[in-house]
Amino acid sequence: MRVAIIGAGFGGMAAAYDLRKAGHEVTIYESADYVGGLASGFKEPYWNWSVEKFYHHWFQSDSEMLGLIKELGWADRVLFPRPYTVLLHNGKWYPFDSILHALLFPGLGFGLDKIRFGFVGLYLRLTDNWKGLEQDTADAWMRKYAGDRVYEKMWKPLLVGKFGPYYNQVNMAWMWARLKARTTRLGTFEGGFQRFADMFGEKLRDMGVEIRLGARVESIKREQDQLWVQADGKRAGYDQVLVTTSPNLMAKFSPDLPENYLKGLLELKSMGAVVMVLALKHQLSRQGYYWFNLPKEAGYPMLAVVEHTNFVSREHFGGDHIVYAGDYLQVGHEYFSMSDEELLERFIPAFQKFNPAFERDWVKKVWVFKTNYAQPVPLVNHSKNIPSIQTPIEGLYFASMSQVYPWDRGTNFAVQIGRRAARLMLDRSNRSLVD
Ligand SMILES: Cc1cc2nc3c(=O)[nH]c(=O)nc-3n(C[C@H](O)[C@H](O)[C@H](O)COP(=O)(O)OP(=O)(O)OC[C@H]3O[C@@H](n4cnc5c(N)ncnc54)[C@H](O)[C@@H]3O)c2cc1C
Repeated sequence: MRVAIIGAGFGGMAAAYDLRKAGHEVTIYESADYVGGLASGFKEPYWNWSVEKFYHHWFQSDSEMLGLIKELGWADRVLFPRPYTVLLHNGKWYPFDSILHALLFPGLGFGLDKIRFGFVGLYLRLTDNWKGLEQDTADAWMRKYAGDRVYEKMWKPLLVGKFGPYYNQVNMAWMWARLKARTTRLGTFEGGFQRFADMFGEKLRDMGVEIRLGARVESIKREQDQLWVQADGKRAGYDQVLVTTSPNLMAKFSPDLPENYLKGLLELKSMGAVVMVLALKHQLSRQGYYWFNLPKEAGYPMLAVVEHTNFVSREHFGGDHIVYAGDYLQVGHEYFSMSDEELLERFIPAFQKFNPAFERDWVKKVWVFKTNYAQPVPLVNHSKNIPSIQTPIEGLYFASMSQVYPWDRGTNFAVQIGRRAARLMLDRSNRSLVD
């Protein structure tokens, strides 16, 4: 059969891999002129490694992604350093990425609050009942079981940071999944995520997949037993099509979808993101910390500062120190329309809080990346509102970050949902052979 995949992110590429292996003719349409999607990276001419536009790492529990890399024969290129994540308390930074560090964190005192924090953490690690948890908001559940103080200190900042105005509508299954799947060791690919994406793209081409870069899909229509993909004014017919973009784009491509399905797509909520990458002359965190969690109420103009070269060596970047400063924001936030220079001016006073010696002339270069679709927002009982991968239009499939659930979206789950979509497409095609 002839298959089109819209999007060369990790979801689309993983689906292409399985469909092509099963002997089908696969074309990927990608509007950007590179593969990798949200996990793509960029490189200065004197860097050996690329830097992700939006900070990325894997967890040791990312079995779908690590499994795929092993299948591709590149497991020896995955590195798992052990960087430090820190949390602010009374103007000081404390390591906060393991159970031991959590227990030693002074922000909760060492009395009843710490005990409640410990029991709730243990319960969430042990239970698998996320379906029960999704009926409550994380806000209500945590207040009830962990207590107001623990919630306000530990969990509310995380929710506010990621979900802004939706923070008290996010369901508890999201929080469960987050605590369940995270590990202290964080992984990356030798050369950066873009190197991996390029190698995967090359592998797909060698297998016979056609990847059309710079091909922006405009519409998908079912006519005369085929799905017609229109990109840059040209049409081509396929037996099956998989779309891996945002739900909004999916609704735009296919306005002929039944009203119920379209409504389901358009009612999904998500946050955008704005991330600045800086190449600095000097190290920002003298202690060598990688990830600074910044509670919104502490007044920082960003949610996270991440010193990438405290995770991987700066030798890969010609000696530059690479720092990210980013935030999840609603589309329309002023950061989306500010110039790179204006945003840098806004961020500079904050960098001085991490290192009082920081000066404007430490900054060699900045890049700013913006996306409208960065983080889906799972509301109460989200499992009942997830659009199905197989759409009501025969042969048309949809696999996006918004359907990744109960786990928090990530490249691991992009691979998982891409492969799940490919299985459904293969089943359908096998059935039509016997029908
Ligand atoms: C700030 C931030 C931090 C993150 N951190 C991590 C992390 O640490 N670890 C991790 O694993 N994941 C992380 N993620 C999530 C991860 O990037 C995504 O889950 C994953 O890349 C999604 O892959 P995808 O294939 O589903 O979608 P995408 O990567 O979004 O791929 C969709 C593709 O469709 C293309 N497209 C869009 N419109 C069209 C069109 N009209 N025609 C043709 N093509 C089109 C896009 O260009 C894109 O390449 C992060 C994301 C963000 C935003």
